[in-house]
Amino acid sequence: MKYIFVTGGVMSGVGKGVAAASIAKILQSRGFGVTAIKIDPYVNVDAGTMNPTEHGEVFVLDDGMECDQDMGNYERFLDTSLSSANYMTTGSVYLSVINKERAMEYGGKQVEVVPRIPLEVIDRINKAAKKEKAEIVVTEIGGTVGEYENLLFLEAIKMLKLKHHKDVITVLVSYIPSLGAGGTELKTKPTQHAVRNLNSVGIQPDIILGRAGVPLDQKRKEKIQFMCGLEEGDVISAPNVESIYEVPINFEKDNISDRILKKLSLKAKSRDLKEWRGLVDAIQNPEGEVKIGIVGKYFGSGDFILTDSYISVLESIKHASYFWRKKPVIEWLDAGAYEKDQKGIKELDKYDGIIVPGGFGNRGIEGKIKAIEYCRKNKIPFLGLCLGLQLSVIEFARNVAGIKDATSREFVKNAKNPVIDVIEEQKKMLKQKNYGGTMRLGAYDCEVQPGTISHKAYKDWIKAGKGPYTISERHRHRYEVNNDYRKLLEEKGLIIAGINKKKNLVEIIEHNGHPFFVATQFHPEFKSRPLKPHPLFKEFISAATKKPR
Ligand code: GLN
Repeated sequence: MKYIFVTGGVMSGVGKGVAAASIAKILQSRGFGVTAIKIDPYVNVDAGTMNPTEHGEVFVLDDGMECDQDMGNYERFLDTSLSSANYMTTGSVYLSVINKERAMEYGGKQVEVVPRIPLEVIDRINKAAKKEKAEIVVTEIGGTVGEYENLLFLEAIKMLKLKHHKDVITVLVSYIPSLGAGGTELKTKPTQHAVRNLNSVGIQPDIILGRAGVPLDQKRKEKIQFMCGLEEGDVISAPNVESIYEVPINFEKDNISDRILKKLSLKAKSRDLKEWRGLVDAIQNPEGEVKIGIVGKYFGSGDFILTDSYISVLESIKHASYFWRKKPVIEWLDAGAYEKDQKGIKELDKYDGIIVPGGFGNRGIEGKIKAIEYCRKNKIPFLGLCLGLQLSVIEFARNVAGIKDATSREFVKNAKNPVIDVIEEQKKMLKQKNYGGTMRLGAYDCEVQPGTISHKAYKDWIKAGKGPYTISERHRHRYEVNNDYRKLLEEKGLIIAGINKKKNLVEIIEHNGHPFFVATQFHPEFKSRPLKPHPLFKEFISAATKKPR
């Protein structure tokens, strides 16, 4: 097995995750079984209890793992579904070492941080690679070199390299700032310091990815090579790009896969980025645009945070738009505005489609409900995700079924008409204040009913027949449609297009006589891939492109 570690230099947020995913993608295209692992240096056991404004989106895997959004990039780039084996944090590593110690698995020995913690990390990497039957495992180490938080993970690289000298390489993704009027005078000194930092823990980078606004010129590459002691050709240009899906193509311009394969003594079996290049062509040469509004609560700290909190939703919109060769124009709409200003809601007409995504807490919900009502009545293509389904049910209950005070137990604890309620097994968790990893999480089946928009959408995706069929989608929520109201809502015309039969829970709702109104209790956005857009997003965007403007 071969190991590639991706570390970050100078500062965080330079796209280590996309770099790791891109490297993995390129090596996959050269014919290897590749998997990717993310290591986060924080003490949280998983990302589940972290506020999205703090950490960005919480991504969810099939097995229910709540993890970092980079895992989403790995799945999207590699077109594969990963498991919790591919994700670890400082907290989770310590937790298993502590549990093993308590179970006497270290035979009564004193358990030292080194080597126990790095050994546990290496063990986990090996297990994940085995599980995925990978020949190459790309492991991204969160944080930046020089911080003490990720030292033990760097120690793991060192230990592994000592043992398997020829099978381990380290990639440093480093920021190259620029000065001067045009911002083109690239400065390499911070990267030199980052390399020295790595050197001080016994690691020499094999490849440096120079992240900058523009491509690195030959002179800068040579300077980094010389000052940091790298072989010729091992400094790769990583300029800013319009779309993250261009990154693998860009890296290959500097022959990154040849460099890596040579270092790992591997012979390429193929070279196939054809489909991927087709994707990039669709991104760069669209035929028209599609304008989508996302109604959320405004976090007040700028677009960056919003973008990071809903990254999978954004990517899913993009995948579907690229499929139809449209340029996606995505705008954030502040739900709060519709609460105060009834007239403002008319701005929804300007969009080809509206999404109400997932969320927690009751801020902004009345505005979102207004937006849903507007989309239903004015036949604006609408996709509701998780909370988006719950609010769609509340809207219908209030405005069509006449239950004026319909709400969710999440918003009103002693609600008289909780059309969205908490189920028995979740009540226990809330009572025990047991919040970590206890929601309805991960993959659950959903039976899709014939004659619905969803049935049509999924049919080709899973190659199903005419009758009802079962799909599997990922979940992350505590509240559900209250079955006590189901009969009444159906009588009033609500279409229940998908249910989980085992638990008897509503999974998808639709409205009749509407070009596209679909809301799901699950999160389809976690399973959309650039080359395989999710069917619900695909049909949503298709309907959006047909909306008269
Ligand atoms: N807050 C809702 C729940 O817990 C919806 C969650 C979500 O949108 N992910 O059920």
